[in-house]
Amino acid sequence: MSQLHRGILAPGTTTGTATGAAINPARMISSRTENGENQRIEKYVMKNLAVGIRTTIAIFCSLSAGALAQTAPDAIDAHLIAARNAAGSDFTATLARLCVAPPNITGIRDAAPGPAPARDTWFIEPAKVFDNLYFVGSKIHNAWALTTPEGIIIIDTIFTYNSEEEIIGGLKKLGLDPGTIKYVIISHAHGDHVGGAKLLQDRYKARIVMGAPDWELIERSVNAFPEGKPKRDIVADDGQKITLGGSTVTLVTTPGHTPGTLSMLFTVKDNGKPVNVAYSGGTAFNFPSTVPNFDIYIRSQEKMAAAAAAANATILMSNHTEFDSAVPKIKMLALRKPGEPHTFEIGKDAVARYFTVTGECAQAARLKLVQAGK
Ligand SMILES: [Zn+2]
Repeated sequence: MSQLHRGILAPGTTTGTATGAAINPARMISSRTENGENQRIEKYVMKNLAVGIRTTIAIFCSLSAGALAQTAPDAIDAHLIAARNAAGSDFTATLARLCVAPPNITGIRDAAPGPAPARDTWFIEPAKVFDNLYFVGSKIHNAWALTTPEGIIIIDTIFTYNSEEEIIGGLKKLGLDPGTIKYVIISHAHGDHVGGAKLLQDRYKARIVMGAPDWELIERSVNAFPEGKPKRDIVADDGQKITLGGSTVTLVTTPGHTPGTLSMLFTVKDNGKPVNVAYSGGTAFNFPSTVPNFDIYIRSQEKMAAAAAAANATILMSNHTEFDSAVPKIKMLALRKPGEPHTFEIGKDAVARYFTVTGECAQAARLKLVQAGK
């Protein structure tokens, strides 16, 4: 292991938070506000910005110290530096998760879900985020409702224990009718994203869309679905378009996080202006740690980066709020003044940088396995 790599893993390195990344300091500092609610939001954002900056500085210092200690950084270091540079202040939590503390996984787990955690650890109010996109997720996981004149497309559910309250309850609070849910697109078959699929399939006859290998994961599972499994429905193809009421979600198969992971491209409207979203369907390296698996993951990051660029995506969304900072961005939206950019719109360059972070961290993890002779 190189100097630099020891550096990035040094004790004391902050590992990031769900809310630290992707705050635009200029935008935030300019948001001087009068009323108490906005001051409260500003305090919340300042606190989380501070955590984000600490994370970035900690990672930066670790890398710099290592880089100074040697004149020719080895190949692992080069990937870590490329990832850090790409992350900037936008993706510190993604960098921390993938480059600072990647796991070492020996096999696929089929664990039974544990007891539901306390409600205050996950509950958050739903929110309208774009003209036709509503957040119905939790503090930790994203679930989205893309609304059309012919019904709703849900993008990812959350756990079985909180999909009823956050998704169905959230839609009702927002004045939307869950009975009009027509499609539910599941990025991958882990319990934190597929947990509400059976509920929406059973109650509203919604069509469930998932990648073939992830349908198979569900069907093979013995322990993970004690309350029942969603029945196999639409099997996603690469490039397939799910179209409803004039809106289209284009599916991009991005195996890696799971064999059937789906990423997506779709368009939302910001006060009538169309803006394009790249939705990353799987991020963490919690697949068996092998070189071939990392090769698959890396190819998918390159593929999705190209697809996002071709679609002119200026928004990056993920299924974990940790990776796209959905929670602080939604809070910041309340402070937006006329003419200011939408808090989710980070630009084409930043979207590209996200996939550089995931790809470069994967390259570093892959090379570590190669060097260890695995
Ligand atoms: Zn997952």
